[in-house]
Amino acid sequence: MMQYFSDCGKFLAESINKIFGDREPWQIATLTASGVISLHWLWNTLIQDECLYERSKKCFFSYAKKIPYVRAKVEAEIDKINSEFQRNTLENTKDVTYLIRLPEKGLNYQEISKKVDQHLNLGSYDWRNGRVSGAVYYYNEDLIKLTTEVYGKASYTNPLHADLFPGICKMESEVVRITATLFNGGPSVCGTMTTGGTESLLMACKAYRDYAKANKGITKPNIVAATSVHAAIDKAGQYFGIHIKSIKINEKTMAVDVRAMESAINRNTIMLVGSAPNFPYGTMDDIEAIAKLGKKYNIPVHVDACLGGFVIVFMKKAGYKLPPFDFSIDGVTSISVDPHKYGFTPKGSSVILYSDKKYRHYQYTVTTDWPGGVYGSPTVNGSRAGGVIAACWAALMSFGEEGYIEATKSIVDTARYIENELRKIKGLFIFGTPATTVVAMGSHDFDIFRLSDMLCHKGWNLNALQFPSGIHFTVTYMHTVNGIAEAFVKDVKLAVNDILKNPSEKVEGKMAIYGVAQSVPDRSLVGDFTKAFIDSMYYVPPEL
Ligand SMILES: *Cc1c(COP(=O)(O)O)cnc(C)c1O
Repeated sequence: MMQYFSDCGKFLAESINKIFGDREPWQIATLTASGVISLHWLWNTLIQDECLYERSKKCFFSYAKKIPYVRAKVEAEIDKINSEFQRNTLENTKDVTYLIRLPEKGLNYQEISKKVDQHLNLGSYDWRNGRVSGAVYYYNEDLIKLTTEVYGKASYTNPLHADLFPGICKMESEVVRITATLFNGGPSVCGTMTTGGTESLLMACKAYRDYAKANKGITKPNIVAATSVHAAIDKAGQYFGIHIKSIKINEKTMAVDVRAMESAINRNTIMLVGSAPNFPYGTMDDIEAIAKLGKKYNIPVHVDACLGGFVIVFMKKAGYKLPPFDFSIDGVTSISVDPHKYGFTPKGSSVILYSDKKYRHYQYTVTTDWPGGVYGSPTVNGSRAGGVIAACWAALMSFGEEGYIEATKSIVDTARYIENELRKIKGLFIFGTPATTVVAMGSHDFDIFRLSDMLCHKGWNLNALQFPSGIHFTVTYMHTVNGIAEAFVKDVKLAVNDILKNPSEKVEGKMAIYGVAQSVPDRSLVGDFTKAFIDSMYYVPPEL
C-alpha cells in the first residue's frame, strides 16, 4: 500500500516537472497563482447556495434586458404601469387635496380633525362591515377610546431612556413576560417587543446569524423554511445576507415536508422555521418534528406564530384541539407573536421570545466607542414609541384571559362554519386542514381568480395566492357578527354557480393580474412592477 502511494507521488512529481520543466520560476509562480484563482472562481460559480439553474436563468434575463429592443419594451411597459398606478392613487384620493409644503400658518384643532376624518373615509372597501379578509382584526369604539387615551398619555415616552420612563419599561417587560407565559415559557424564556411581526422575524434571523458566526464560525449562513413561510423571512435574507432554502410543502396537508427539510440542512444552516399557522393556507407545520431536527443537528428552531399566536394559545380553552407548538417542546428556541393581529392591540406591537438569554444577546446591537456615548439598543429602532407599548399593555389588560378565549371561540367557530360550508360547494376545494382562522380555497374546474373577481363585485375583498393559484379568507372578529359569515358563504355559492355555467371562461379585469404575474418567467420583471406599485403609494401629483 505504502509502495503504491510513493509510486503515485513519484509519478505526480515527474508529471508536474514535465509541465513546468522548461519554464522560468516567475512563470511557474504566475501559472500556479492563476490556476488557484481560476479554481477558486470555478468553485464559487458552481458551488453556491442558489442552484446553477436558477442563477443561469437570472443571468439570461438580465442579459436579455440589456438588449436595446427588449429594454425599450420593458421600459415602455413599466411606464404604462406607473401611470396606471398613479391614476389609481389619484382616483382613490380624489376627494381630498394634496399638499406639497407646510401650510403657512398652523391649522386649528377643528380644521385638522375634519381633514383627518376626510382622509380616513377614503377607500371603497367596506371593512367596517366585515367585507375584507384579515387586515382589521377587531373594531370597537370602547377599545379604541381606551387605547387612544392611553397612547395619548404616553405619547411622549421613549423606552430608549429607561431611566426617564421606568414605568414604560415595566409595561414592556410585562407584555413580554405575559406572552411568554401564554406560550408555556419557563423562567429562562425572555424576549423584547418590536414594532411588528416582520421586525420580530428579522430580529430572530439576526440573532441566529450572529450566534452561528460567534459559536460555530458560520460565514455563509442559510435558513431552512417552507415555501409557505412568511415573506418577512425572505426579507431578513435580503437584509442580512442569509440564503433562504425554500422547502416544498406537502400537497395534501399544505404543511412543510419535514423529510425535505432534513435533507436541506447543511453545516451552514443557522435556523429552522415552522409556522403556527402560516399565512397562505392557515395550516400548521409539524413543530414537534421540526424541533426534533433542531435537536438532532443542534440548530435553533423558530416558530412563527405572528398571525395566529393570540388564537392558538387559547384554542384548547375554547374547546378546540391543536398539536403542540410552544416552549413545552424541547428544541423550540424562539417564537414570534403579534398582539397587533388577534391580540387586537393597536398596530405597531409584536413580541419576539427566546428560550434562553444567550440568543437574545445576539439580537441586541451595541456601539461602544461612539462620541455620543456607549449606545445599546434591543431592536431595530433607537427611539421607540412608548405610547404603543402602553396601548398594547392596556388592550391586553382590557381583554384578559376570558376575553381572548371568548373571542377565539367565536372566531374559530366562524372559520369552521365557513370551511364546512365551502367544502360542500362543487367545483371548490379547501387547501389542507385550516388549523385556526384562515380558509384557503382553489378549484380544479375553473380559474379561481374569477371567483375572487365576482366576489369583489359583490363587495368582498379576499387575498390572492400563487403557486398554486388560490384565494384565502382570514376570519377575524369582524366576521363573527351580523350574519357576515352566512352572507359570505351565500355569495360564494351564487358566484360558483354562475361560473360553472361556463367553467372555461377566462378571468378579466383586475384579478387577471394574479394569473399573469405567475406566468412571467422573468421574476425580476414582476419585481419591477411591484416596485412601481410601491412608488405609487408615495405618489404626489406635481403642483398645478
Ligand atoms: C402577518 C404575518 C407576519 C408579519 O407580521 P407584520 O406585523 O405584518 O410585519 C409574519 N408571519 C405571519 C404568518 C403573518 O401572518
